[in-house]
Amino acid sequence: MSIYNPQSSTAEQFISHSEIVAILDYAAAHRNDMALIGDILTKAAEGRGLTHREAAVLMECSDSDTTERIFAIARDIKQRIYGNRIVMFAPLYLSNHCINGCTYCPYHATNRTIARRKLSQEQIAAEVIALQDMGHKRLALEAGEHPKLAPIEYILDSIDTIYSIHHRNGAIRRVNVNIAATTVENYRRLRDAGIGTYILFEETYNREVYNRLHPSGPKSDWAYHTEAMDRAMEGGIDDVGIGALFGLADYRYDLIGLLLHAEHLEARFGVGPHTISVPRIRPADDIDLTKFPNAVTDELFRRIVAILRLAVPYTGMIISTRESAECRRQVLEVGVSQISGGSRTSVGGYAEQQQSEGSEQFDISDHRTLDQIVGWLLELGYIPSFCTACYREGRTGDRFMSLAKSGAIGNCCGPNALMTLQEYLCDYASESTLAAAKGVIAAEVAKIPSERARQITVERIERIVKGERDFRF
Ligand code: SF4
Repeated sequence: MSIYNPQSSTAEQFISHSEIVAILDYAAAHRNDMALIGDILTKAAEGRGLTHREAAVLMECSDSDTTERIFAIARDIKQRIYGNRIVMFAPLYLSNHCINGCTYCPYHATNRTIARRKLSQEQIAAEVIALQDMGHKRLALEAGEHPKLAPIEYILDSIDTIYSIHHRNGAIRRVNVNIAATTVENYRRLRDAGIGTYILFEETYNREVYNRLHPSGPKSDWAYHTEAMDRAMEGGIDDVGIGALFGLADYRYDLIGLLLHAEHLEARFGVGPHTISVPRIRPADDIDLTKFPNAVTDELFRRIVAILRLAVPYTGMIISTRESAECRRQVLEVGVSQISGGSRTSVGGYAEQQQSEGSEQFDISDHRTLDQIVGWLLELGYIPSFCTACYREGRTGDRFMSLAKSGAIGNCCGPNALMTLQEYLCDYASESTLAAAKGVIAAEVAKIPSERARQITVERIERIVKGERDFRF
């Protein structure tokens, strides 16, 4: 049995099974301890975050007043820290060749029915043009693990291609990368290529379940996979994004696992994860959902998101088009700060829809276009943001976190969201989205706290309307 040690570089110690089991027991024993729960909620309401132990207790408590309080505090923290901004992004699938055996993913090596594809640099350029024409500025690059067909050099070339394309007023200004766990040296190369966040999902933190779901391939090495973020940080990547695929194992275990991982990164590197993704398992080619009995209901899912919001207030939270519009609406309220829009999960799905059919990683629930989602967000009172300023201004890692914690980022993020939204409205919006946006920018500019930032924003928005692009604080 390994001893729990958040500062250790050994996965077994920072994601300690015995610690998680002890915490689950503790949470079950204290689920009706209203004095303790009251203290935890008070701490959460102050925006001080929660430990994994405190979060576990809240997850277990079934009292309805407590549940309402959790949601109310989550809404309040979300509003205080993120305002009404929602960051937009799209996934870009490069290749679905994979040597791993993950039983929940249709890209697994033994799937003989899926259409296998790998994009050439010309095809990637076509995808990027299609994404730019939708209005996207931020991508999450996705690829299966295949050292021969999709080696690191292919990924690096693809990043170069993506950044080099400027179609009309379009530009991809931030490429986040979601590829298999790799070496410190390769992470250094990704950093040098100018990536934003390195994203890797743990899938499940439960090692026993993990081993069962990953019967073959390099990803079956749980420790190597779990220590990937440590290597990424050692390679100089400041912003890392963690995630669990809810539905693979017991949700309580994975919620605690995510928080242990976040606490470990904070303890070892002084900065927690930049983002947490909360996908849920979805139907896909060759994937039988009846084999996954741990599916999480919408209500439970909303509670998981809210508790994560309380536990790690300054960590962005991401949700994909796996989820329906209604589910997305609910979790945006209680914690999610970044969503994808107009996504295709097939390889080449933006420019070559027909040829890419049958290569999807998962079925999409939210099929709306990016423009429809932008219009919908505006109608709900949100500000869709295409901002990529922080990492381009060097505000990454602990520099981003300390700014976020001081609240000073409000004078950057708010104006940046408005300026990038104005770009979107000028270049890509439909009539109905323009109608939904009417008056919104002026009303939001008036709320910018610093007079100087307000004045500069007004002036820059006027210049954007006249044709200039890419201002940022
Ligand atoms: S989850 Fe990733 S590693 Fe596993 S089969 Fe799918 S693409 Fe390959």
